[in-house]
Amino acid sequence: MPLVPANDFISWKERQISKGGDHQSLDHLIDSVGGCTKEKYHLIKLSLKKNIELKVNLEKLESLWNQHLNMGIPVQYLSGISYWRDLKLEVSENVLIPRSETELIIEIVQESFKQKFKEITFVDLGTGSGAIGIALALAKPFWNGIATDIDKNAIQIASKNFARCSDKSNLKFLCGHWWNPLEKFKGKIDLAIANPPYIPKYIYQKLPEEVKNFEPKIALLGGDDGLDHIKIIIRNAPKYLKKGGYLLIENHFDQGREVKKLFLENAFISVKVLKDFSGIERFTIGRYNQK
Ligand code: GLN
Repeated sequence: MPLVPANDFISWKERQISKGGDHQSLDHLIDSVGGCTKEKYHLIKLSLKKNIELKVNLEKLESLWNQHLNMGIPVQYLSGISYWRDLKLEVSENVLIPRSETELIIEIVQESFKQKFKEITFVDLGTGSGAIGIALALAKPFWNGIATDIDKNAIQIASKNFARCSDKSNLKFLCGHWWNPLEKFKGKIDLAIANPPYIPKYIYQKLPEEVKNFEPKIALLGGDDGLDHIKIIIRNAPKYLKKGGYLLIENHFDQGREVKKLFLENAFISVKVLKDFSGIERFTIGRYNQK
């Protein structure tokens, strides 16, 4: 493992950030590829360490940083790692980089299932890297989850991520379009969560190159008005949810009203639109009210 004098490392880092980019991205590379956490770097700056042991040499780190700056490749794809909540997840260009605004989904679920339920069956539709399903399976070891995704590469990444994060088997992975792989679970699901592609076409076209050129279009684009997939999920939910079962969907900042209407048209009650950390109406939750 390359041993780098603290002063060299500090001036190297200052040189890199002077070329452009943001501290968070550079710190991500230094941590996930170089093996030096922000805490360790802090100790170096306080002169508590004379040398720093890195997992790769500075040339390697610099070449990744240059690729990020020159080609716009997200640092998570360059390192193959994304941090989400307290999870360290493998990511590739086959899966969306899990977003911090989605983290709140886990708290919303925990709020909704405070008491009573000992064991429930939940599904994470369009799991991508597995973020939501894995976080829930870890938080609730006695719950049984199924994570689905249409892309078999995503399923592979998500199941590997789960195996790395947990020694339990309370999350299964199935490949297929939204509810399709869940035939066996019709009428048996207590909770379904989805962070589907919901970006309207005209907004997708204006997304930053860093997103548009590297993140999977299939995970972001929701058709002309962004609601194509949200509609499929809501309209089919009644076939799969138990009476009283919950559906929780992440949506675009301006879709709350429309998504709530879709819930109400499909036999959902107690429908609420919830805000994310930035005060944006980001999530819609409701309970299926089967007659
Ligand atoms: N469920 C995954 C996430 O929240 C993937 C979402 C997606 O690809 N649209 O990150």
